[in-house]
Amino acid sequence: MVEARRIGIVGAGLGGTAAAGLLQRAGFEVTLYDQAPAFSRLGAGIQYGPNVMKIMRRLGIEQAIEDASSHPEYWFSRKWDDGAYLSRIPLNAEHARYGATYITIHRGDVHSIMIGAVPPDLVRFGKKLVDFQERANDVLLSFEDGTTDVVDVLVGADGINSRVREKLLGPEAPLFTGWVAHRGVLPMARLSGLEVEPCVKWWSADRHMMAYALDGTREEFYFVTGEPAESWPAGVPWVPSTREAMRESFKGYHELVQAYIDVADTITKWPLYTRNPLPLWHAGRVVLLGDACHPMKPHMAQGAAMAIEDAAMLTRCMTELGTRDLSRTFEAYRAHRIERASRVQQVSNANTWLRNQEDPYWVYGYDIYDVDLTA
Ligand code: FAD
Repeated sequence: MVEARRIGIVGAGLGGTAAAGLLQRAGFEVTLYDQAPAFSRLGAGIQYGPNVMKIMRRLGIEQAIEDASSHPEYWFSRKWDDGAYLSRIPLNAEHARYGATYITIHRGDVHSIMIGAVPPDLVRFGKKLVDFQERANDVLLSFEDGTTDVVDVLVGADGINSRVREKLLGPEAPLFTGWVAHRGVLPMARLSGLEVEPCVKWWSADRHMMAYALDGTREEFYFVTGEPAESWPAGVPWVPSTREAMRESFKGYHELVQAYIDVADTITKWPLYTRNPLPLWHAGRVVLLGDACHPMKPHMAQGAAMAIEDAAMLTRCMTELGTRDLSRTFEAYRAHRIERASRVQQVSNANTWLRNQEDPYWVYGYDIYDVDLTA
């Protein structure tokens, strides 16, 4: 087989964008496609651990992301009613040990910095993949707008409802986890006079609220919850919610939690979905990454991190093992990712991460560039 050079990445989310930037820097001819008509500052908050920031360093955007984000010294876990401290986990307080910064940021801001690390002429918005066909020497991509493209390798980075996954494995709806998340953003100034920690998770037996600052000047603050729910209507991505609904759900919670709710501007409610582990991560010239192959509940703040680590490992395997024997290269990628991604998926789903005092080094101290590919 000849070397594969033309790489088509479908999905310009956080995983696909990282893959595009890294593969382009490694010398591949990359095209990044997304169904969205244009880039927009979507989402709310996201946390990147030092494990991700070491990859952002390779993209040359570590400093830009640090400049736009909040850098909490500690992660605090607190009891829902009296606020007693359950854990006090060093984040940037152990910067040197982890090897990079722990940041919290507006998802749109970090996505915009990451997209900026990909040459604009390589990004095609308004391209919804509807079909693909693997041929002897290439893959034919077909988009909803009637256009086609030909690449040597197709990377499916198209999220939990991945069309690429569906083509490889057949249609299967994702599983509702029985959990929903309220999300809200609020100006920090409205909390003046209160002792607000920049990264804190409030826990009771059956639900929680994670709250953190979204920028370096700590002007914007954000919360995201996890709450049990019996069902969610199929096909509805999210619904608007209200302060009243949240007060009801977080009745009896600490006065700081009530204060966040009282001043939140826009409150929305989202379903949390997952999938059973996939029987394959690659087939022929096609390979999956991120939520397309291992979605998880967001309770460890590592879903995007795993997508970005996938992107870095895929780039390493394609560069260091070559692309003549794609099956060997993609199998090495899977083998070097599956254990870690599955462990993170398990801990996320169990929702136990950092609730009690523990050492998070296995997650934050990890450096994907230290992994020995010959092992
Ligand atoms: P996505 O981000 O879903 O991107 C997929 C892209 O593919 C989209 O841009 C979409 O438009 C595009 N696409 C889809 N279908 C097609 C098609 N047919 N053709 C073309 N384009 C297509 N993770 C963290 O690491 N830290 C956090 O703090 C964190 N907080 C979270 C909070 C909540 C409430 C939730 C729900 C998740 C959170 N996550 C967090 C998880 C994280 O958001 C996901 O794991 C991550 O976004 C997955 O990235 P991805 O690139 O694989 O997929």
